Amino acid sequence: MSKTPIHHFVGGRIAAPRSSRTQDVFNPATGAATGSVALANRADVDAAVAAAQAAFPAWADTPPIRRARVMFKFLELLNKHKDELAHLITAEHGKVFTDAQGEVTRGIDIVEFACGIPQLLKGDFTDQVSTGIDNWTLRQPLGVVAGITPFNFPVMVPMWMFPVAIAAGNTFVLKPSPIDPSPSLRMAELLKEAGLPDGVFNVVQGDKEAVDALLEHPDVKAVSFVGSTPIANHIYETGARHGKRVQALGGAKNHMVVMPDADIEQTVDALIGSGYGSAGERCMAISVAMLVGDVADRVMPLLTERAKTLKVLNGTNLDAEMGPIVTRAAHERITGYIAQGEKEGAKLVVDGRGFDASVAGEGCGEGFWMGGTLFDHVTPEMRIYKEEIFGPVLSCVRVHDLKEAVDLINAHEFGNGVSCFTRDGNVAREFSRRIQVGMVGINVPIPVPMAWHGFGGWKKSLFGDMHAYGEEGVRFYTKQKSIMQRWPESIGKGAEFVMPTAK
Ligand code: NAD
Repeated sequence: MSKTPIHHFVGGRIAAPRSSRTQDVFNPATGAATGSVALANRADVDAAVAAAQAAFPAWADTPPIRRARVMFKFLELLNKHKDELAHLITAEHGKVFTDAQGEVTRGIDIVEFACGIPQLLKGDFTDQVSTGIDNWTLRQPLGVVAGITPFNFPVMVPMWMFPVAIAAGNTFVLKPSPIDPSPSLRMAELLKEAGLPDGVFNVVQGDKEAVDALLEHPDVKAVSFVGSTPIANHIYETGARHGKRVQALGGAKNHMVVMPDADIEQTVDALIGSGYGSAGERCMAISVAMLVGDVADRVMPLLTERAKTLKVLNGTNLDAEMGPIVTRAAHERITGYIAQGEKEGAKLVVDGRGFDASVAGEGCGEGFWMGGTLFDHVTPEMRIYKEEIFGPVLSCVRVHDLKEAVDLINAHEFGNGVSCFTRDGNVAREFSRRIQVGMVGINVPIPVPMAWHGFGGWKKSLFGDMHAYGEEGVRFYTKQKSIMQRWPESIGKGAEFVMPTAK
């Protein structure tokens, strides 16, 4: 089977790579190499940044309402091409098609938010801060901004960034994951069709070399990153050293606390969906169930049964609940963690290794398959508890009470998402207030905030102080300017040597 070449998108068109390095792109369901993505060198990055820099002055000067109109048109096109984008996701990521549709929808939400940019950029104004003097603030775009994104949401995570950045008047260079690069090019084409001027949105495909070139480039004013914690840390430090504004979202280990009064069926549904959905390859996946008191005895039998009977099928099959693992390397990492968990003494209740790929669908024999894995009696010193596995492995930890659960979660190095299942309002309130985690769900397993609220974890799940999208996103992509103005009639005679005060 021939491999489709996947190139960059610069200055409004597909750009042939200057570098000769490439990486194969796979269909994880079949294991077949379907594409070959270019890996940018510094010259490729320079070309993309130059195109974005050239487009910046005119775009920044374009009235926000006209920028919003491009976003409205883009929104229309996204809705029209939603399934096409979802198919592209499934083909290179492997997640099930209906989940991919959900991903596109959550991206579309941000575009809808960005359509409100005239209102979001509206400044404030004080008449008469001093006699005859008015003062107002406005927010202006930064210039060229870059987005570096992970494999697990090739449409949604870029859309956490570029709709807000572009609507605010910046120009953008996206560096998607080389694992599933194709949706980025389709989004670039749709933006162009929506009337976005050439050079406002560019895509450079690549790996560390491209990322480091972006981080060091003097014309890149801000970097948004989403990915694993070690890389987020590197991006934050290197970007800051080069004088850039940086928001770097990292990895996660999300807990669900199950109180003894929780509805057991709802809890099991929530654990199955959030633990194994997208094969656990979500930064908001639940990877630890914290079972409080005697609830474990009621949850475990049901959870075991459900984990064993997950419908693990080719993502193109509409009955699929879980698809394959994204790469062979990720498959090896996850199976390594399962072996580690056994070695450390956790009870392996359901083993997803050795899954019979032939039942996943025709042609799946060589794909990167495994079933869901369930561990019980996991303890906090085990690596499977401490580290992010990023696969369909759910670890159950048994605790005595809410305090023990909260203390453990607060001591964990990650703080992305968390959830508590209970019927008790006091427990819910106390939990929400005490927990040291950025996004909290009460009877909501995956509490990803909506477009206008902003997304971000705490601790090692976010480096930087501003969350993605929402009003924090607008602030991240703009800088505030204060303007103080008076006119000759209000100006008294003579130089003033004392600190000006309101008169
Ligand atoms: P990753 O860190 O391997 O890659 C992310 C991006 O960084 C990619 O574009 C990749 O090409 C680039 N990159 C990889 N290695 C690099 C290096 N050494 N130097 C510079 N750039 C490098 O992450 P991934 O495997 O693509 O995605 C999974 C990770 O992302 C998980 O840890 C997950 O929790 C995290 N994630 C976090 C969030 C969040 O909002 N906090 C959301 C989605 C995913």
